[in-house]
Amino acid sequence: MAKIFKATTAGSLPKPNWLAETEKLWPAWKDSGETLTEKKKKSAAMWIDVQEQSGLEIISEGEQFRIHFVHGFLETIEGINWDKKTQMGIRNDRYVVEVPTVTEPLIKSGSIHVEEAKFLRSKSKKLTKFTLPGPMTISDTIANEFYADKKTMAMEFAKLLNDEAKTLCDAGIDVIQFDEPAFNSFLEESIEWGMDALEVAIKGLDCKTAIHICYGYGIEENLNWKKTLGDQWRQYENLFPAINQSNINQVSLEFAGSRVPPQLMRLLPDKEIMVGVVSVVGDHIETSEEVEKNIMAALAHVEVERLIPSTNCGMAPISVDVAKQKLKALGEGTERAEKRIS
Ligand code: ZN
Repeated sequence: MAKIFKATTAGSLPKPNWLAETEKLWPAWKDSGETLTEKKKKSAAMWIDVQEQSGLEIISEGEQFRIHFVHGFLETIEGINWDKKTQMGIRNDRYVVEVPTVTEPLIKSGSIHVEEAKFLRSKSKKLTKFTLPGPMTISDTIANEFYADKKTMAMEFAKLLNDEAKTLCDAGIDVIQFDEPAFNSFLEESIEWGMDALEVAIKGLDCKTAIHICYGYGIEENLNWKKTLGDQWRQYENLFPAINQSNINQVSLEFAGSRVPPQLMRLLPDKEIMVGVVSVVGDHIETSEEVEKNIMAALAHVEVERLIPSTNCGMAPISVDVAKQKLKALGEGTERAEKRIS
């Protein structure tokens, strides 16, 4: 019987300890060359299998081939000086990191992720999803010493992302998701030019497109930031009307365990909504009943056909074991909700 809901993740999954350092945002690989490539494949295959066994319907490679969701895309792009590290406060100074610097025109020669997309396509018969960083988030995670301003640089990245996304769609990927956590930090700029950059990135794509906007990984800096956001997190309220008018097909939002008022989903009447029904904190594993409850709460504001149960964000920084249990709960909770409404 065809499933009512197509459960999925927001993207990244943890890397096992034989592949990279664990529970870190910028882990170091544990190998190099061909051995490392084989290990990445083994790990991606493991996660594809776990997602399918858990009952998910839109499958990703768990970002096992890249060290970080932004820098994985940047590694082979020309114009970026990796030796010139700049200390930069990112996400509106929420945390300070060392980032590479754009010092020359940005050029992408060839595809960055197509082999990974082909690998995913070959391992799963279900729908597939591939994530890319959004142009605004990239521009907030790299220093600029070449372009006139951040917006101009973002537009250049958007063109490169569009080219990459087309290649991934041609390789059989069903959904291309752009991760834009920076949208929640720059509420005005995201509407002023972030969405324009995103439109450039999705232009002419034959597959579905998605945007993921979250309150970040379940790490200390983000958890502290969330404490300052008050009883109701209304950041989405400004963004969603603009997104609803865009050409994006799906919107991924944080909901589980958050203070996002669920009625804000009503601001996206024309979009499919990936509702985060599983949190990404490592110290709480949802039960299937909790997941079911979250789905039912969302259904008060979004029709069944437009709801995609998802994780709140990527799970890269939590443990493999916890992530597996959360995926299991996501699948089982989705099944419980299906039984409830059918
Ligand atoms: Zn996220």
